[in-house]
Amino acid sequence: MNYRELGKTGKKVSEIGFGLEHLDRKPYAQVEETLNEALRHGVNLLDIFMPGTEVRENIQKALSTRRKDVYIQGHIGSTDVGKQYDISRDMPTVKKYFEEMLRLYGYIDFGMLFFIDSEEDYKNVFETEFITYAERLKKNGDIHHIGFSSHNPVTATKVIETGTVEMMMFSINPAFDMIPVEESVFDHLDNNFKADVLRGLDPKRAELYKLCTQKNIGITVMKALGSGKLLSPEHTPYKKPLTTYQCVHYALSRPAVASVLPGCQTIEEMAQIMGYFSASNAEKDYAEAISTVRNDFAGNCVYCSHCQPCPVGIDIATVTKYLDIGHLDEGNIPPSIRQHYAALNSADCIECGHCEKRCPFGVPVIKNMKDAARILGGK
Ligand code: SF4
Ligand code: SF4
Repeated sequence: MNYRELGKTGKKVSEIGFGLEHLDRKPYAQVEETLNEALRHGVNLLDIFMPGTEVRENIQKALSTRRKDVYIQGHIGSTDVGKQYDISRDMPTVKKYFEEMLRLYGYIDFGMLFFIDSEEDYKNVFETEFITYAERLKKNGDIHHIGFSSHNPVTATKVIETGTVEMMMFSINPAFDMIPVEESVFDHLDNNFKADVLRGLDPKRAELYKLCTQKNIGITVMKALGSGKLLSPEHTPYKKPLTTYQCVHYALSRPAVASVLPGCQTIEEMAQIMGYFSASNAEKDYAEAISTVRNDFAGNCVYCSHCQPCPVGIDIATVTKYLDIGHLDEGNIPPSIRQHYAALNSADCIECGHCEKRCPFGVPVIKNMKDAARILGGK
C-alpha cells in the first residue's frame, strides 16, 4: 500500500480506501471478513456514510480494538428517515444520527458536511445552525477535521472558498470529468452516459482540482468506476470499457487526490482491486481508452503519463500539474508548489518531441516545459 497526505489535514491515508456502503444489510460475517481483508492490505481510510444502525454496529464490532488504526469519514446529515437514505438539514435529526456515530466510534476523523451539490444545499449548510454544529464538534474534539462531499464542481468551489473545510470527497472518473458542468452526473448514471455530450476534460472540473492543490484541500474519491458502468461494454461511453485499474489510476492522477474509495463487498473484490499495486503501467494507462470521444479541449493535459518515457527523465505529467496550478495565479504561486517543482527537471528538456508524438491529446509539451521553467523556476 502507498500512503498520501490528505491536504492540510496532514493525515497520511492509503491510496486505496474503502467505501463500506455495499456492506449495508449484509451479514456480520461478510462485513468482518471484507474489512479484515482491507486492513490486511494496509487500508486505513473508511467511508461510513450509511445511516443504518445495524451496519454501523457491525463495522464497529469488526474493527474492535483497531479503531485507532483507521481514519473514518463520517457524514453529518446522512439519515434514513422512513428506511430510505436521506439528506437532512433538520438539526434534531442530524444530531441524532451523527451522535450515534460518535457513540459507536468514539470520535470521527473527518466530519463530512453531507452532499453539498446545489445552491440550496450550500445555503442550508453554511447559512444555518448546521455549520455551527460542525464547528462545535471540531472544537470539542468529536471530529478532528471538517470535510464535505459533493458531485458538483461549481458548488464545491464555493464551499472551498469559505475557508472552513480541510478536505473534500468528490465523484471523479474520466466520464464525469468530461460531462459539461451544467449537466447532472446522476442523469448520466441513471440513463446511461450520453457519449455525444462528453467533450474533453471540463474546464470547471479541472479548475476545481487545481484550486484544491493551491489551497491544500485533499480530495478523496467516490464513484471512481462510475458505479461500474465504465467497466461495462453495454454502458461505457468509450469505444471499449475501461478496467478497474485504469479508473483507479485516473482518479489517483488528478491533482490533490489522496485516496480512492471503491465500494467492495467481498474478500474477492477487495483482493482484485488491490492488484492495482502490482499492475503494470500499461495495464493502468487510460489515455488511449478515453481519447475515443470528442475532445473540444484538446491541448489540455490529463496527467496520464502516456507520453513517457522521456529520454532525460522528466516527469511530464507532474510538471504539467504544477504548471497548471501556477497558471491559476502566476503572480501568487504558493511556495509549496515552487518547492515541489524545484525537485523536477523540466529545464533539461532537449526538445526531442518524443512526448508530443505519443500524447493522444495534442498537448504542447515542449512549450509547457519552457513555461514551467519560467513561471515556477524563474528561468
Ligand atoms: S502530455 Fe499528453 S500524454 Fe503526457 S501526461 Fe499530458 S495528456 Fe498525458
Ligand atoms: S521533448 Fe522534452 S519533455 Fe518531451 S520527451 Fe523530449 S526531452 Fe522529454
